[in-house]
Amino acid sequence: MTKIAFIGLGNMGGPMAANLVKAGHAVTGFDLSEASRNAAAKTGVSVAGSIAQAVREAQCVITMLPASTHVLYVWDELLGFVDPGTLIIDSSTIDVESARKVHDFADKAGCPSLDAPVSGGTAGAAAGTLTFMVGGSDGAFSRGKHILESMGKKIVHCGDVGAGQAAKICNNMILGISMAGVCEAFVLAERLGLSHQALFDVASTSSGQCWSLTTYCPVPGPVPTSPANNDYKPGFTASLMLKDLKLSQQAASASGAATPMGAQAAQLYSLFEKLGHGGEDFSALIRMLRGNEEATAG
Ligand code: NAD
Repeated sequence: MTKIAFIGLGNMGGPMAANLVKAGHAVTGFDLSEASRNAAAKTGVSVAGSIAQAVREAQCVITMLPASTHVLYVWDELLGFVDPGTLIIDSSTIDVESARKVHDFADKAGCPSLDAPVSGGTAGAAAGTLTFMVGGSDGAFSRGKHILESMGKKIVHCGDVGAGQAAKICNNMILGISMAGVCEAFVLAERLGLSHQALFDVASTSSGQCWSLTTYCPVPGPVPTSPANNDYKPGFTASLMLKDLKLSQQAASASGAATPMGAQAAQLYSLFEKLGHGGEDFSALIRMLRGNEEATAG
């Protein structure tokens, strides 16, 4: 049993903290949102009134926050209250540079740290089947692995500090591009009079097969658990997809990598957000591709 503080109990952090409780860890959580705090309390998380209160006596602190600004702010604060030697893990998706910066904060406070972003979405968070992509020293990884195993089924040590975020950004660029491609294929099929099910039956067992099609199908019917069957309620919001695509483009430009398809996907999601759909699941992009909403984009 490890005493764990969990900061950020939202769509992902809430179920992740619940799985730590189920695995027998003592979890104290904090979130700015009252609704998230109340939901976490129902799953056995002991809810604290502040970050300071949550991290006091913790042997491990995990953060699951929206973006790098939140992570920089929260790590700066929490490192003032933890004992040296406390393992600090960030599972948010953020840019590599900020990830390295917070590792540096932790290092100065005498704390080992890991960047450990995840893949698998809210369903994976609830089922405890996330994939963790981990960056950090061998020592920090061997301390954190068993904790991450309570929330995920695959834990990959990608390399030193920042390597987890690098892997996450590359993975999500593939996801943004592949979802746009699958949406386009369904729109084309509709225009050609081909049923959704027929395209799915062929492509899911042919060379068009990919996660965006077989697990997260953007049309209702073929995959009953996909957000398309629930009026595109997220899931993974289009705004978060856009955030990750922007991170990939920032990293591509800083490293000189050519990513023209990633740039195109970023433009599509940027337009989709401008049209007011940022809070919808990212697979709802298919609605924009079907229509002529571009004409009204601001
Ligand atoms: P979310 O917005 O549902 O949850 C974030 C939580 O952080 C919110 O409850 C918010 O109140 C809280 N928060 C913000 N600032 C805080 C602070 N200073 N102190 C305490 N709490 C604070 O977001 P999410 O969907 O859980 O995503 C979290 C991270 O995981 C993001 O970086 C996202 O890119 C990544 N991610 C999300 C998914 C997904 O499917 N939702 C999948 C993989 C990765």
